[in-house]
Amino acid sequence: MTRRMDMRKKIIIVGGVAGGASAAARLRRLDEECEIILLEKGPYVSFANCGLPYYIGGVIEDRDQLFVQTAERMMQRFAMDIRVRHEVLQVLPEKKSVVIFDHQNQVQYEETYDSLVLSPGSKPLQPAIKGLTESQNIFTVWTVPDVDQIKAYLDKYKSQHAVVIGGGFIGLEMAENFHHLGLKVTIIEMAEQVMAPLDYEMAMLVHHHLLSKDVQLYLNNAVQFFEPIQNKNKTKIHLQSGSVLEGDIIVLCIGVKPNTDFLKESGIDLNVRGGIKVNKHMETSVPDIYAVGDAVEVTDFITKMPAMIPLAGPANKQGRIVANQIMGRTEAYEGTQGTSIVKVFNQTVATTGANEKTLKQYQIPYSISLTESNSHANYYPGATPMIMKLLFSPKDGKILGAQIVGEDGVDKRIDVIATALRWGATVEDLEQLELAYAPPYGAAKDPVNMAGYVANNIYKGDVIPAFYHEIQDLDPVKTLILDIREKDERNLGYIIGSLHIPLGQLRQKINQLPRNKEIIIYCRSGARSYLACLILMQNEFENVRNLLGGYEFYQVINKTKKELRGTIH
Ligand code: FAD
Repeated sequence: MTRRMDMRKKIIIVGGVAGGASAAARLRRLDEECEIILLEKGPYVSFANCGLPYYIGGVIEDRDQLFVQTAERMMQRFAMDIRVRHEVLQVLPEKKSVVIFDHQNQVQYEETYDSLVLSPGSKPLQPAIKGLTESQNIFTVWTVPDVDQIKAYLDKYKSQHAVVIGGGFIGLEMAENFHHLGLKVTIIEMAEQVMAPLDYEMAMLVHHHLLSKDVQLYLNNAVQFFEPIQNKNKTKIHLQSGSVLEGDIIVLCIGVKPNTDFLKESGIDLNVRGGIKVNKHMETSVPDIYAVGDAVEVTDFITKMPAMIPLAGPANKQGRIVANQIMGRTEAYEGTQGTSIVKVFNQTVATTGANEKTLKQYQIPYSISLTESNSHANYYPGATPMIMKLLFSPKDGKILGAQIVGEDGVDKRIDVIATALRWGATVEDLEQLELAYAPPYGAAKDPVNMAGYVANNIYKGDVIPAFYHEIQDLDPVKTLILDIREKDERNLGYIIGSLHIPLGQLRQKINQLPRNKEIIIYCRSGARSYLACLILMQNEFENVRNLLGGYEFYQVINKTKKELRGTIH
């Protein structure tokens, strides 16, 4: 339905990619009459920035595929005035106008608006590290011109060793794509783990996978300074730990900051990071000015705290909400839950909602379940395991967050949980979900159902979980660790000091177990040990816990810790 306005409304949009293009298209769909001017400082609108790493890696071969829309096509289809290479330098709310610099013609001019939509996005952080600007082989990955430069550099200098600084999702995508091109890859990360949305133990699964692909990892390690090596197209990277490595090509992926310098004098409220403050309707503190995307401060859906979460989905949704709002359809943005997914070589890593670190920070009570399930029926070829960590409220069982690492089927499971979380579902609701099943696709008890069963057992107190990190500090006088796996499994490795009684013999040998000690039981993944817990509890053992994730998870973390110690200097 077209909503006609009394007057022809003039709307200026700053930024022509995710949020801006989305708002523009929706505005036109809602109102055939309004005047839409889209100002974009770069050379392209509506390009697929999320595809840039894959273009560098050659997975996306055709550069044209990066352009979801060209300015010409968009102008034709949506009858709007698109001005690329036009940068907004200032917003003047008292005059309801913006000051624009036309880079093409090198002229400055002013344009008035009835409504102004700000979607200027963010830009990669480039700290003032010595040697950064002097090195010709250090790049960021943000725009099409950025990747054009990287590709040209790779072609010209036939780089052998890529160093990725920053282990966030863009850094990991770059690592994979450099590797795909045959380069040796090193990742340097200041934190103790890559992928900040994951909790440490889940990130260890990613470290393990990266190491298995011969990616060198320098964790807990920041760059101190760069030293370009003259005439060798290389740069020495000096780390705070004292290590020095040489990179042929270096990409900086250490985070972003909002593109809001041009708003500093505008009177629009910004937060300390420069993020634009908006209400639920994406209205800024200044009338008739709206803002969306990476540049805005949103409300975290779980913690209800202000947050900056730069993701394409929220930017697009907010763009649509703003268009609706401008056209008189009141709509609210209820917050960002940070649902995200990344491919790391053969692994898929996905998260939604809050992680344990965040819940701790805001003192939100939580319980944890950890499950290993196969991507589809075990007996159908090609099933691969996925590890799912679920965080939920011990008060009412509501889902607070999830993290999944696996090879296959991770995407649909995270989306199911993200949807459940958005509608306030509990762990019991996850048990009840009826999900599509046939052997090639899933299991009659889907990994999401399984996570629900296990979490609900914990929620109801049917079983008490133990965690991998507790094991090393246990006092053997107070706690017995019980391995209930089969002999051949134990022969391949076990937790030092654990007593071995295979599950099949547990009932017969139950009297060998001490009643005055806590007993932590483990199997390979946590499923059989749950059964063993129930046997002991029903035989009136009072202090019994199940090791979440089992031996498999415990030993991957420990093995990876050792490997990392071996690689870090
Ligand atoms: P953008 O889409 O960045 O658009 C902002 C535009 O505003 C820019 O083109 C900029 O040139 C322009 N601009 C800025 N200031 C001015 C000014 N003063 N005047 C005129 N124009 C201006 N998100 C995901 O959810 N999943 C992914 O897989 C994913 N992968 C990514 C991979 C890469 C390499 C990158 C760079 C980003 C990725 N993102 C991903 C993030 C996602 O692209 C952003 O969250 C999203 O584009 C933000 O939308 P936006 O409209 O706020 O900003």
